[in-house]
Amino acid sequence: MQQPKHPKQQSIRAITLITTFMGAVILLSVFALKQIKASTTEQIRDNLQTLLLTVQEAHHILVEQRRFAVSSIAETAAIVAVSKRILNEYHGGFPLADSENLRAFRQFILPIIRKFGDQGFFIIAPDYANIAAMDNNSLGRENLIARHKPELLAKVFNGETTFIPPIKADKEAATMFIVAPMLDSQQQVIAALALRINPRSYFSSVTTIGRIGETGETYAFDKSGTLLTESRFDQQLRDLNIISNNQSSSFNVLIKDPGGDLTQGYKAKLHYEQRPLTLMAAQATQGKSGTNTEGYRDYRGVPVMGAWIWDHKFQFGIATEINVEEALEPYYKTRNTFIQVLSISLVMVLLLLKLIFHLQRQHRNRIEQTNAELEQRVKERTADLEKMQKELSEANEELAMLAITDSLTGLYNRRHFDNQLSLEWQRCLRDNKSLAIILFDVDHFKQYNDHYGHLMGDMCLKNIGSLLNVSDITKRPSDIIARYGGEEFIVMLSNTDRDYCIQAANAICQKIRDLAIPHEYTGKSSQVVTVSVGFIICNNLESLRPNQLVSRADIALYSAKDAGRNQVVEYHDDQRIASRR
Ligand code: GH3
Ligand code: MG
Ligand code: MG
Repeated sequence: MQQPKHPKQQSIRAITLITTFMGAVILLSVFALKQIKASTTEQIRDNLQTLLLTVQEAHHILVEQRRFAVSSIAETAAIVAVSKRILNEYHGGFPLADSENLRAFRQFILPIIRKFGDQGFFIIAPDYANIAAMDNNSLGRENLIARHKPELLAKVFNGETTFIPPIKADKEAATMFIVAPMLDSQQQVIAALALRINPRSYFSSVTTIGRIGETGETYAFDKSGTLLTESRFDQQLRDLNIISNNQSSSFNVLIKDPGGDLTQGYKAKLHYEQRPLTLMAAQATQGKSGTNTEGYRDYRGVPVMGAWIWDHKFQFGIATEINVEEALEPYYKTRNTFIQVLSISLVMVLLLLKLIFHLQRQHRNRIEQTNAELEQRVKERTADLEKMQKELSEANEELAMLAITDSLTGLYNRRHFDNQLSLEWQRCLRDNKSLAIILFDVDHFKQYNDHYGHLMGDMCLKNIGSLLNVSDITKRPSDIIARYGGEEFIVMLSNTDRDYCIQAANAICQKIRDLAIPHEYTGKSSQVVTVSVGFIICNNLESLRPNQLVSRADIALYSAKDAGRNQVVEYHDDQRIASRR
């Protein structure tokens, strides 16, 4: 059979079980959270890429629209005609500032420019000189595009309407163009019409669609890592002194990594110019598109996730970024919920465990209490039983005593005497020891009864019994005195000699007489109760059976009676012959 577990062992087992269970739950939760984080991150990556491609696509559509619009204007016959005239005036050395044709052209083009929100226009001669413009200052000068992007301008003069990405000319505001060729009737490019697009409004119209959530932004940048669009965080950049108060972020911010989160008080160690480009800008400006969901620092040093693309056709990059913190917010919420649920579960399990232990303890205490009560009851019952047993054995002893005692005199009774005599006779026979019997009888007791009454007779016998009980006649444990019947008493002495027998028999006779129980009717002078004593001592027990011993003592007793009572007579064979007679 299995041993019942110790309560401490049970507790340790329960704690181990719960700990293992909670450990497994925590491990599973960590695993689940990792999965959730991975899928959340994957989702963010997809979203960022989708957003990026949407912005790029929007940009392409917009460019296409503008290219179409500008080339439509450039193809307009009236425009071509006016341009031709201006070109002729230019070639003819006519001061263009005074040109009526230029004035007419301006009147025609200005409403269109305003409609598109453009900043100005140029008509560029094949020698790349400006022959028409918003103001007269640039007339006759080499065109800005020719200075910065001659290869793109060359494309225009090859007949292609071209988007000129932002140019940051010295001291001038950054600017970009859509340039369309102007064709004569022979389809020869006679000049180019350039509409000066406001990069800020242009890019912003595209990139603001890429602003998601609280921190998501999409921005464009050029090869040098200069921000081409407005940052969503203009105010922050001003607060961080990256741009001055009256500056806008576009064209004034380099997408560089400050080395730490400036918005959290990080102080950049490197000077602005010496800082490396952000991870995103470094890759994009090398023409590499990519994504990053591990997190990297943006131009404010804030950890972000991002997707970026380098537009090889238009030579600028677009990036979509979102703060890691915001991107992972749903994950953090889930994680916090997990942690809360786990903590609550843990607390509940601990409380449950405490309750179980408490109940167990209570149960144990109850059992212990019950056991103690039972033990106490058993002890009480055992004590009761022991007491009863003692009383019973005392009663038994008393009963046994009563069974062998004569109720009137307190001496042994005849049955006990006979038993003892039989045993002692065998023992003495075996050991070859002597055995003596003294038999004595109250004299004239009939008269005593008759005169003093039976009750007094009993009293008399009782007094004799008391005397014999305290007498020193019987010395050895095997010696006994008993009431043999009526007013007759008997003594057995083993391993004794004749002298002692005579002495004992005489002592009995004497002591009873000395009791001086009045007996006026003995017919003798003594006037007290006396006894007649007969005894026999036998050294050869082989010749005499126990009852023969008694009957011979009895013969001696009757000899004493015959001789006048109140005396001791030893048995001898002549008495036997005499008694037969
Ligand atoms: P003797 O000297 O020859 O022995 O004469 P006795 O009168 O003593 O002898 P007997 O046998 O004639 O009488 C014995 C009397 O003892 C008769 C009986 O009433 C009386 N007796 C025997 N047992 C008891 C007893 O237990 N109580 C009382 N009160 N008397 C008893
Ligand atoms: Mg008698
Ligand atoms: Mg008698």
